[in-house]
Amino acid sequence: MVKELIKNNLCSACNLRSVFFARSYSGEKLCKNCFSDSIESKVKKTISKYKMFKFDDKIAVAVSGGKDSVSLLHILSKTQKNQPRSSLIAIIIDEGIQNYREEALEIAVSNCNKLKIDYKIVSFKNLYGLTLDEIISRRGENEKKSSCAFCGVFRRKAINYAARLVNADKIVTAHTLDDEVQTILLNIFHGDITRLSKGSPISEIVHPCFIQKVKPFCEILERESALYAYVKNIKFQDTPCPYSSEALRNDVRSMLNYMEEKHAGTKFTVFQTIKKIRPVLYQLNKKNSFGDCSNCGEPASLGLCKACEMLNRIK
Ligand code: SF4
Ligand SMILES: [Zn+2]
Ligand SMILES: [Zn+2]
Repeated sequence: MVKELIKNNLCSACNLRSVFFARSYSGEKLCKNCFSDSIESKVKKTISKYKMFKFDDKIAVAVSGGKDSVSLLHILSKTQKNQPRSSLIAIIIDEGIQNYREEALEIAVSNCNKLKIDYKIVSFKNLYGLTLDEIISRRGENEKKSSCAFCGVFRRKAINYAARLVNADKIVTAHTLDDEVQTILLNIFHGDITRLSKGSPISEIVHPCFIQKVKPFCEILERESALYAYVKNIKFQDTPCPYSSEALRNDVRSMLNYMEEKHAGTKFTVFQTIKKIRPVLYQLNKKNSFGDCSNCGEPASLGLCKACEMLNRIK
């Protein structure tokens, strides 16, 4: 009986150390070392499964200072050591969110310095002439879009812009399995088939100015990414953004967490289901090709890119 108890408390991978984390969706019970090894190996497998990198890619990692992006930066700095012709650089976007972004920037920079990774900071203020705070305060009363909808459009453009500045071949974002599944459901709730068809872990190149985006954390649960940062003693910002409570995404997050708690593996099943359907959706939406924005020259599906169209409304 005692032997059985001790055995049950031993890591199911190494059978040596005591259990630190139990994965309900797979039944694994892992010690701290085997848990962090499992995350690193899952990321490597994802990179190779989706053929995310070429051996000589210059890889730009979008680092916000939050747990996911700094954890991913640490993992890539370790795994890419085996690729001497490839290089890493961090892209840090300063949206201009008072009493929030300053700390995140400092944490992002300190992680880059620790890992000896160069970084490039691009701010909304320099790029658009306004901080996110200013953009939000100028929003008209009839504006239905949330702060995050504005932030997302401007940040996507800023990341692509920064990646071009540093001559990157790939952009890495730290979207987790949770982020991916939330986005899938949000696109369904908004009836946005075009975006649903495009959310692949490795983006389609639809315009020469678009740098290909890859998501090596797309099969990692958010709570496991947080746990990885904790186990590895990685410094990250845990204060939430002041605008985050507005987002519909929060309701979707709570709903998915509830489902995952009751039915382990739900998030992965949704992810896999859409992955199978996506090629059909993509074919249906292929006609939506990109041209150049008549204002800034960036990729745009209509006359103006989304960011210029939003800026026009605000200014
Ligand atoms: S929570 Fe919304 S506003 Fe804040 S950084 Fe994220 S997307 Fe931007
Ligand atoms: Zn172990
Ligand atoms: Zn534009």
